[in-house]
Amino acid sequence: MRDDDLRDRSLSGRRAEAGYGNGKRRNPRFHQPDYRIADAMGFVAREFETATRAALEAHQFARLRELLEHIWTHNLFYRKKYAAAGIGSLADLLHIARSAESVRGLPVTTKPELLADQAAHPPFGTNMTCSPLQLVRQHQTSGTTGRPLKVWETRESWDWMTRLWLGQFRALDVTPADTVFMAFNFGHGLGLWNALDAAMELGALTLTGGGLSSLQRVESITSNRATVLVSTPSYALRLAEVADENRIDIRSSAVRLIVVAGEPGASIPGTRARIEDQWGARLYDSPGATEVGHFGMACPSYGVHAIEGEFYIEMLDPQTLRPVVPGTPGEIVVTNFGRPFAPVIRYRTGDVAKAVYDACECGRTLLRFDGGIMGRSDDMFVVRGVNVFPSAIEAIVREFEEVVEFAAEVFEERGMSGLRIRIEVSPVSAGGADDLVARIKDAFHRRLFLKTEVEVVSRQALPRFDGKAKRVTRAPGPATRP
Ligand SMILES: [Zn+2]
Repeated sequence: MRDDDLRDRSLSGRRAEAGYGNGKRRNPRFHQPDYRIADAMGFVAREFETATRAALEAHQFARLRELLEHIWTHNLFYRKKYAAAGIGSLADLLHIARSAESVRGLPVTTKPELLADQAAHPPFGTNMTCSPLQLVRQHQTSGTTGRPLKVWETRESWDWMTRLWLGQFRALDVTPADTVFMAFNFGHGLGLWNALDAAMELGALTLTGGGLSSLQRVESITSNRATVLVSTPSYALRLAEVADENRIDIRSSAVRLIVVAGEPGASIPGTRARIEDQWGARLYDSPGATEVGHFGMACPSYGVHAIEGEFYIEMLDPQTLRPVVPGTPGEIVVTNFGRPFAPVIRYRTGDVAKAVYDACECGRTLLRFDGGIMGRSDDMFVVRGVNVFPSAIEAIVREFEEVVEFAAEVFEERGMSGLRIRIEVSPVSAGGADDLVARIKDAFHRRLFLKTEVEVVSRQALPRFDGKAKRVTRAPGPATRP
């Protein structure tokens, strides 16, 4: 089959795509749950959430094979990719997709590949099997590490992800009685748009804080008695700081629950403690990524799970692409089932975490990212052969309550990694700044064997962040990357 034939088939609407992923499955293992309804334990999909690993995998591989059948017929991007990997027939493809071990015979998918495809075949690229008429939303990645990748949604895929957020809210006991304040910029990113739709579908009252200053957001949260805040962890810190500067007691606000996404902050103990203390609320981490969808779910026991009924998750060594031992850091590689018209199959997210598979206190058997997402493999640097993430630096700095804000720069000097940290300190501790500096240096030396320069800067000298923060950067000069 020529490429033109495939392309023509893929975009001229030869098959009604709307039904795919929305009903008639040939190999249903579990029924599609109604995410609007939770049981007394907060489970919306108990069958998935408490399944044995064998049952989960059977379900995942049935869905994967169904997806691959569709791809083989309609998706030019994956058809070419798999042909280049020597997969010559649908039978071969399905044979590979039968177990966790055999599926590693499929090549991984990377962001640069998808970007190159979109650049060569603008705007949609060839990883698109529905008619553009069926698309209802377009988003894109932030582009902080290069050109942004465009991602589209059909009505069905949008509803799919909204259901996942519904499950998230239900698990954390958000109810129609709640008022949910969404503090993000409502821009091109996927961000928390689905969280908004999910909160509405749940019947909660929603407030959208786009286009407001931080102070206006704080005032809206308090005057409207919002009970749930959805933001990034950096921004939850920022809002608390603005409240403090304006003598607004945010701790006595009605906010009881903060759900964050986009950064590791909620899983860094010092950061979590600080946000929970400032707000007098519980903080939960619900990770996702624009390219794959909202694959994570926080549970009431502070576990960060993967929604394995809707995603197939692998934990791989970023260098060898071999599976890592459970409980050790690995890159999260995701296959999503809810965007079959433009799926990602074995997609390298760049996020690193430690996956564990024992049952969580909450009762879920879904894999758990122990300690949440550690960071991005791109951001990792190596100190004396040890991988260090910016989150590890933040974890140490946040142990010092006197530090209000910080910025750190990793540098290399005579083959040794070092760290320059600038800190803003609270007024009460300004007198003991020298002592604080010495204690911070000592902590970095003991814990990370890092030579650290610490400088106290004036209040408000360092950047604040509305979305994802970039507090740890790399100094120009010799590379320290792995
Ligand atoms: Zn749990």
